[in-house]
Amino acid sequence: MRRMLAAAIAIALALAGTSTISMAQTSRDTPVDEVTTQLPRNVRPTHYEVAVVPDAQSLRFDGTVAIAIEVLEPTPSITLNAVDMTFANVRLAPVSGSSGFDAPQVATDAEAQTATFTFARPLPAGAYTLSMDYTGVIGTQANGLFAIDYDTAAGRRRALYTQFENSDARKFVPSWDEPNHKATFTLTATVPAAQMAVSNMPVAETTDLGDGSKRVRFAPSPKMSTYLLFFALGDFERATTQADGTEVGVVTQKGKLSQAAFALESSKDVLREYHDYFGTPYPLPKLDNIASPGRSQFFGAMENWGAIFTFEYAILLDPTISTQADKQRVYSIAAHEIAHQWFGNLVTMQWWDDLWLNEGFATWMAGRTTQKLHPEWNTGLGVVGSRDYAMSRDAVASTHPVVQHVETVEQASQAFDAITYSKGAAVIRMLEGYVGPEAWRTGVRKYIETHAYGNTASDDLWREIQAAAGKPVLDIAHDFTLQPGVPLIRVGQASCANGITTLALEQGEYTKDRPDKRPLTWRVPVIASVAGSGEEARAIVSGGSGTLDVPGCGAVVVNAGQSGYYRTLYAPAQFARVRDAFAKLATIDQLGVMRDAWALGLAGQQPASDYLDLVLAAPVDADPQVWGDIAQHFDSLHDYYEGDAERQKTFAAFAIARLVPVFARVGWEPRAGEGDPVAILRSDLIATLGELGDPAVIAEARRRHAAQDADPDAVPAALRKTILTIVARHADVATWDQLHAAAKAEKTPLVKDQLYLLLSAPRDEALAKRALQLALTDEPGATNSAAMISAVANEHPELGFDFAVAHRRQVDTKVDATSRSRWYPGLASNSLEPATVAKVGAFAQAHIAEGSRRAADTVIANIDYRMKVRNERLPEIDAWLRENGS
Ligand SMILES: [Zn+2]
Repeated sequence: MRRMLAAAIAIALALAGTSTISMAQTSRDTPVDEVTTQLPRNVRPTHYEVAVVPDAQSLRFDGTVAIAIEVLEPTPSITLNAVDMTFANVRLAPVSGSSGFDAPQVATDAEAQTATFTFARPLPAGAYTLSMDYTGVIGTQANGLFAIDYDTAAGRRRALYTQFENSDARKFVPSWDEPNHKATFTLTATVPAAQMAVSNMPVAETTDLGDGSKRVRFAPSPKMSTYLLFFALGDFERATTQADGTEVGVVTQKGKLSQAAFALESSKDVLREYHDYFGTPYPLPKLDNIASPGRSQFFGAMENWGAIFTFEYAILLDPTISTQADKQRVYSIAAHEIAHQWFGNLVTMQWWDDLWLNEGFATWMAGRTTQKLHPEWNTGLGVVGSRDYAMSRDAVASTHPVVQHVETVEQASQAFDAITYSKGAAVIRMLEGYVGPEAWRTGVRKYIETHAYGNTASDDLWREIQAAAGKPVLDIAHDFTLQPGVPLIRVGQASCANGITTLALEQGEYTKDRPDKRPLTWRVPVIASVAGSGEEARAIVSGGSGTLDVPGCGAVVVNAGQSGYYRTLYAPAQFARVRDAFAKLATIDQLGVMRDAWALGLAGQQPASDYLDLVLAAPVDADPQVWGDIAQHFDSLHDYYEGDAERQKTFAAFAIARLVPVFARVGWEPRAGEGDPVAILRSDLIATLGELGDPAVIAEARRRHAAQDADPDAVPAALRKTILTIVARHADVATWDQLHAAAKAEKTPLVKDQLYLLLSAPRDEALAKRALQLALTDEPGATNSAAMISAVANEHPELGFDFAVAHRRQVDTKVDATSRSRWYPGLASNSLEPATVAKVGAFAQAHIAEGSRRAADTVIANIDYRMKVRNERLPEIDAWLRENGS
């Protein structure tokens, strides 16, 4: 599954950063914990024969299921997972022998999400078929079987899709809904004859029922986890291509197929690459990617085996609004989901404790593959930001190890976070760097081959990697995955003799909220290099300290190549050398050094102004992604000054003065032959200069927006979202009303959703309140409201949080149930107010199960940290600006 991570998304278009909750939450007001989701282990399913008849209009469906089971020991009852279902005609028949059983008593437990079938006499061990008829409900948020309504030029449409990860297959099929209960599935659906039905496997047989409906039977699936089952139904179109004998397809709403052409071609390339990498061929006859309008607070795309699901904004390229950044995102999301076809689908984690095996690996694999197949995008530099995102999360007390114990469904939902995805990927990258890419791949191939169609825990992977590498990996892997936190490598004394620099290194821990914490210890693989030398020195720092001999004399970069999951703190003299050599550093090291100086500066471990010294050292022609990164941090620093207009203006003047010469080189108009990174920088700089209040950029954005009817070139697609965002941020009532009219009139869901989000962007509080009211209505569409509230909260955290809490009953219907325990606290993330800390705490206490308050605790820790940075660090920045600001 692909979570949408807030850091990657532009301000007004921001999705809810993080969020989550689930069943315990649905029976709210009585916090529930220790809801174990583990079923009795005395029965094992092997095959499900499922038939459904969806009634899209009434939002319900009828189902029948026949489950082939093995009863492993005598038992009076069978318990499986089921939610929001009613049962009829339950029967059990032994596979051999004739003695049937009387119909069992059926008891459902809404809290445990189970149904228990109790028989008059105990069942002997053996093979049986458990059959039943049932009814279920179709939701309006993206979990279970759900409906999405959307506008088209030909009128309003409703399509159905499923989303089952982590624990919602039980809303569609009574089932052993846990990842290690793998079974095969044969799905049959009775649907309107004019619509297209899609599932994991190709259609095996279609029967016209003569009443305007048809019965579609799909071929049996391979043995797989329940959460990977998929079904969709709607007015769809499908296009296909071939890759190594697999039919690769995209499915969209009618009329949008051409917008999925890039995703289709990309999927073909990626599938071929993975065949080569994994060594085991993709085992299904087809691989579709199904586009759906709308959005979720929980995820952007889902790797259902053979039938990937992706929201339109993450798969379609609309010629009127999509950007180069969107195109790269379409590619990397497809690469992520296709990686899961092996890592996750063919080999699946035993239990949610090891979710990172799915998500960390798919994140790493997508990054590696995007860089390999599209080197011109240079997205490999993105690993620094992604690692930093994980470190920021990992540096507060509420963090957790990559491998963590999960007990409840809600905790499983919360496990889809920055640690699982980004730290998981960063640790893999570090270990791949440590053993070398060849040994790593050999280990991965063996792991896939050995465990195909099975379930694993982390050590199954480490064992294969260690065997392939021929050197110890397990200890380092355990240090980084079984304990939480971020190592800090302090670079102390450095001396150069005979062309060798000897460094003294000491290991501590980087934290944002526990300055006096006694550091954990890690075995840290460290790579260092003298700037410009091209030679590396490697060592494992263990036991808390070490020395390293680096070839050459000069400025030494520690974590050269940035594959290490640790921060580097240079002694002042070493930092000064690195700063003076900044222009000579490899681009990835420029990014790494800046990120460390920023984070450690804010944490008070080095002068906060060191970051700004690096900015002054960055040449105007530095890599576009270096300037994009600086722009992002300027934006962030500008936010810290919120509420103090004078000082904020002083900082903005400095920031604008640094960015304007860079923007002058990039310009508003694309230059012939420019690379994608430059196009992305253009939009980043315009957005940031707009945020900083640069009058020239704001005026030009408004001029272009006003001129677009007369001059079709005034707002090119690549800048449309950026220009609209600036216009919306600075909107007055008339402009907001005009944007609102445009949103209402728009018939393309992908564009319409963006326009509704823009209505939530204004700085003006009165307009932000109008957006909140609008979000409670049906007008924006069922899946847009939560994103609109999040977007308001991005600029006005108190307003957004208070509003959502005050209207909780209504708002709950517009947020994925699985996301609530993260979503509500997340609204307060950008706060700088002590009162908000108390409010988030009180909300968690009242409405979030005790074992699921990690997201709330994290928001609180981060608000405390932001206040500390504002009070303690900004004065240093002010002093620096007085010296260097002009
Ligand atoms: Zn994923």
